[in-house]
Amino acid sequence: MTTRSETQSTLDHLLTEIEHRNPAQPEFHQAAHEVLETLAPVIAARPEYAEPGLVERLVEPERQVIFRVPWQDDQGRVRVNRGFRVEFNSALGPYKGGLRFHPSVNLGVIKFLGFEQIFKNALTGLGIGGGKGGSDFDPHGRSDAEVMRFCQSFMTELYRHIGEHTDVPAGDIGVGGREIGYLFGQYRRITNRWEAGVLTGKGQGWGGSLIRPEATGYGNVLFAAAMLRERGEDLEGQTAVVSGSGNVAIYTIEKLTALGANAVTCSDSSGYVVDEKGIDLDLLKQIKEVERGRVDAYAERRGASARFVPGGSVWDVPADLALPSATQNELDENAATALIRNGVKAVSEGANMPTTPEAVHLLQQAGVAFGPGKAANAGGVAVSALEMAQNHARTAWSAERVEEELAAIMTSIHTTCHETAERYDAPGDYVTGANIAGFERVADAMLAQGVI
Ligand code: GLU
Repeated sequence: MTTRSETQSTLDHLLTEIEHRNPAQPEFHQAAHEVLETLAPVIAARPEYAEPGLVERLVEPERQVIFRVPWQDDQGRVRVNRGFRVEFNSALGPYKGGLRFHPSVNLGVIKFLGFEQIFKNALTGLGIGGGKGGSDFDPHGRSDAEVMRFCQSFMTELYRHIGEHTDVPAGDIGVGGREIGYLFGQYRRITNRWEAGVLTGKGQGWGGSLIRPEATGYGNVLFAAAMLRERGEDLEGQTAVVSGSGNVAIYTIEKLTALGANAVTCSDSSGYVVDEKGIDLDLLKQIKEVERGRVDAYAERRGASARFVPGGSVWDVPADLALPSATQNELDENAATALIRNGVKAVSEGANMPTTPEAVHLLQQAGVAFGPGKAANAGGVAVSALEMAQNHARTAWSAERVEEELAAIMTSIHTTCHETAERYDAPGDYVTGANIAGFERVADAMLAQGVI
């Protein structure tokens, strides 16, 4: 039998190879490190996982598509963006994962997101593989007509790669209900098919699921609550800092408030808002979802309880809980140090990989409950899978039913991660628990399906 340390050195060797074979993809390297660093105990304990080529196949996407996206702006000027779809792993079901439209998007970013998505989707217990896509297109400041033309051009290439049984995209940063509508319209026009299950996050009335917009944020709060319950606490009366002001942040704040916590912050790339009375969601939704504005407008209109801090770090605000809900690597060592100094009890990731590896280490060392995104933010993709189920059955469930299913899935993910961590001598370590539990499910399916 191979020992853990022998297995770890094989994995370390593979990590070096991953860095050489995938140059200039730091986010992908980071995501691969984070997973492979925790797998030695399970691979050493279960010889079938040491099969040559298994982990090597897992870190290599099944298919990667990069394409040109030309479109005309409102002045008639031709613009050219780059489109991506990385179909990472389909051992458990059709590739599933969102599309991100943001200027920072490149192949390495999409690969990190796709890699995370494999394990996240496996943890939901539903039949969905892992994929991710997007573009370096920046929707900010673009008119609806420009966004529509961009989405139509993007789908004119993407349509040939996706399908309800093949690959099912959804939203992510910069892609919400408006974009999914334009993308779905163009898919329907090109293919001449009403294929509702080809995209999730659709609008109410044409195949969308109730609670899908809320699901990622709600799910993350439920995961944080489960971590607190494990320590004999609940959300009632806790102060929470939330970063971001998009879909995930908004519904995180909504659920925190509903469960008796006080969510006092939100942020965007210009700075953060702190509101001692708790964020007024009607005002935030009006500014972000209706006006597509910035968070400084919130502080201006809210009155005395709120102030806008330009350029500052939201993690300096004292709180019991932190729910990073903006983007990758937004919570670094300095932020973790400030949170720990202020007595934070739990950090739960609403965004994908928002906490740097050094910060995760510091938080875990300090005994802070840490919920990694692939477990804590899995509620969004889980409800996407429920949307697919409704589409296949040509039915629509009530909000109560979807919320109940979401709550059951989040509880089950928490239990799975917790028990798996204990089984592999890492009690309370949700990172190890999530990685190993997700890996076991995908690896078992890959082994059963042969070398493909
Ligand atoms: N973009 C979301 C995520 O990171 C949702 C993906 C989906 O619903 O397919 O999980």
